[in-house]
Amino acid sequence: MRILIGEVKDHIDSEVEISGWAQNIRIMSSVLFIELRDVSGTVQGVLLKKGNEELFNSLKNVPRESILSITGLAVRSQAKIGYEVQVKNLEVINKAEAPLPLGVTDKIESDIETRLENRFLDLRRPEKLSIFKVQSTISNAIRNYFVQHGFIEIHSPKIVAAATEGGTELFPVKYFERNAYLSQSPQLYKEIMMAAGFDKVFEVAPAFRAEEHNTPRHINEFTSIDMEMSFVSDEDVMNVLEDVIKAAGKSVAESNERELEILGVKKPSLDYDFKRITYSDYVKMANERGFEIKDGEDLSTPILKSVGADIKEFYFITRWPRELKPFYVQPFDDKYSRGFDLQFGEMEITSGAQRVHLPDVLISNLKSKGLNPESFNFYVNAFRYGMPPHAGWAIGLERLTMVMLDIANIRETTLFPRDRTRITP
Ligand code: ATP
Repeated sequence: MRILIGEVKDHIDSEVEISGWAQNIRIMSSVLFIELRDVSGTVQGVLLKKGNEELFNSLKNVPRESILSITGLAVRSQAKIGYEVQVKNLEVINKAEAPLPLGVTDKIESDIETRLENRFLDLRRPEKLSIFKVQSTISNAIRNYFVQHGFIEIHSPKIVAAATEGGTELFPVKYFERNAYLSQSPQLYKEIMMAAGFDKVFEVAPAFRAEEHNTPRHINEFTSIDMEMSFVSDEDVMNVLEDVIKAAGKSVAESNERELEILGVKKPSLDYDFKRITYSDYVKMANERGFEIKDGEDLSTPILKSVGADIKEFYFITRWPRELKPFYVQPFDDKYSRGFDLQFGEMEITSGAQRVHLPDVLISNLKSKGLNPESFNFYVNAFRYGMPPHAGWAIGLERLTMVMLDIANIRETTLFPRDRTRITP
């Protein structure tokens, strides 16, 4: 039975069977060393020429990254990790072509375009694999949190007839004789689920945004972790968000020690205090730094960079102007809303809000944003026959992974990123 290379250490002085990629084969006159790698790590296999001449010679023509299967004796040794495998049998299962379009073990990385073009090879690098092991921990921790707290998982449609937030950033699709779009967000559907009486729902699914420009934090298909709850306020769901982020951080700290070490990052801190800063106070902070913005204007990237540079942790920006938030966000007063963002430093990770629940307010908000309530009938109707007060938020999984691992480009936390110029692989 094959075991993982990471398990060999538990089988010292026994025979083991391991399989994986030959990341290096070094041939000396009488002995040959094979560095074999799988998802769990690498180990050195040693083959003596004496008594194995045919096999020994055949391995001279095996290119790097070929798939091998080895059986042999696991023994303690001088190898860096303290043990190795004395090869008894070796099978070349699938030879790799040479040369490789991208080196897997090279000290210096290729440029990102070459890496993305050959992503399957790029992802063989332990530090790339580690990013996605951590991402898996994060999404599982969040999913577990929801399940443990009684949320119902939903799957809303990704082909939709109307935009969630107006017409921009939409990908049109041909839908027989009609026009349809790829969903930007499950927003309207998760609210409809509140009218349906589901009380607490979550969804982990792709969201599509036609972002015109390439930036380090935007991709055109991202994974949105959405939640919505009934009979709660913006404050309540901010508290849930805080708990969710802490649960994810705790889980990464507990389960990904090896990956954090490979990536050279510290364990996520568990005692951030998730400060609440109102939008208006943020504007004041920006103006104290020499920016000149009026209360009501959006917070530009330079402002978020400057103010955010000093807040190297998670914090909320609350009470955004109604003008800057979508129609479904509940007003706080004439000018401000119950919409909030969660930031880490300069980066927005989540936006959320208490939502409008009265149909009249919803219709007047739609109109004031220049949208036609008629085209949102399927949604507005859900507010007419008993809609509870509700609130929720959406986290971008790739952005959360970026901040937890201190990674600057969202393409690194996305398996196969779609940006302005890339839709393959
Ligand atoms: P931004 O202002 O950064 O463009 P947004 O305000 O459009 O983001 P929302 O519509 O509020 O974002 O989406 C909620 C969350 O989804 C964001 O906080 C972010 O984590 C994630 N997100 C949104 N757009 C993208 C994108 N193009 N690529 C990656 N993640 C995104």
